[in-house]
Amino acid sequence: MATRKKLKKGVWVFFVVILFLSIAIYSGINIYKDYQYKQTYEYKLLEIGYTKDEVNKLKEVFKNEELDIFLESEKNEDILNLIDEKYFLKKNFEKYLSYKEKNKKKELSEIVRNINLHLDKKYYEELQNTNQSLDTLMLVNKYYALPSDYEPTELVTISTKYAWGTKGSKKTRQVTLDAFLEMWDQAMEDGYYLMINSAYRSYQDQEKVYNDRKNSRGEKYADSVAARPGSSEHQTGLSLDIFSKNNSNQSTFKDTPEAAWLKENAHKYGFVLRYPEDKVNITGYSYESWHYRYVGVDVATKCFEENITFDEYYAYYLEK
Ligand SMILES: [Zn+2]
Repeated sequence: MATRKKLKKGVWVFFVVILFLSIAIYSGINIYKDYQYKQTYEYKLLEIGYTKDEVNKLKEVFKNEELDIFLESEKNEDILNLIDEKYFLKKNFEKYLSYKEKNKKKELSEIVRNINLHLDKKYYEELQNTNQSLDTLMLVNKYYALPSDYEPTELVTISTKYAWGTKGSKKTRQVTLDAFLEMWDQAMEDGYYLMINSAYRSYQDQEKVYNDRKNSRGEKYADSVAARPGSSEHQTGLSLDIFSKNNSNQSTFKDTPEAAWLKENAHKYGFVLRYPEDKVNITGYSYESWHYRYVGVDVATKCFEENITFDEYYAYYLEK
């Protein structure tokens, strides 16, 4: 009997010990889990004041270690709104923030755009060589330039039926001419006679154009109306200055039906109006109702539909 009692007691002790051990292990695991969770970015961000949805949004865009930057300060609504911007690029994120810091009154869309397009830098200040391998999509502007010896291949002569000047004096790339001729036919059918005033320009030609302007009215004026050599799109052989047979006047062409026709239809043939009236602060050029750039139908159509310049297209869709 005594042995049985002892045995019973032993079983009880055993179960009690097991129970305590289980509770201890369970609590230990929980404490450890809790400790681990508190080390996560999710916990730390929630502590700062971001909601669960906002944390998920941040985690979608940023890798774990990249989230450190958000832990250094209080919750920042700008960060969340920046991510929602249509043209937000993650690689520029920190630049957006420091630019916003210096330009508190600027809208976030403007912050994103300016940084994407390097507009926070002065024109020509940090000129880079453009990526020539992009071919018909190479960007030439006040930030991306061509070397002085760049000459496009397959330059062809434009007939005087389509261009002013002496025979053989206007040249362009074959791809540009083909697209132009297709557009010319349609314009003619619609009752408009298009004429080219300027096409391919060599680095040296552009140097002359720019220096003439600079010598007559100074650098500031020259920069607003002409590209510095190397930064002229005309050197690509993809740009055309298109007027009508009746009007080749830079100040009045914008009001002609031909200018209106081009504006509405050029993208169907692969051309973009390169320096629109409402984008002067983006392109850095005064409105040029005559300057069209060949980029191909798909890209031209996208620029047209999104109402963006080729600079913006490049920054967001090609350079990103
Ligand atoms: Zn031009």
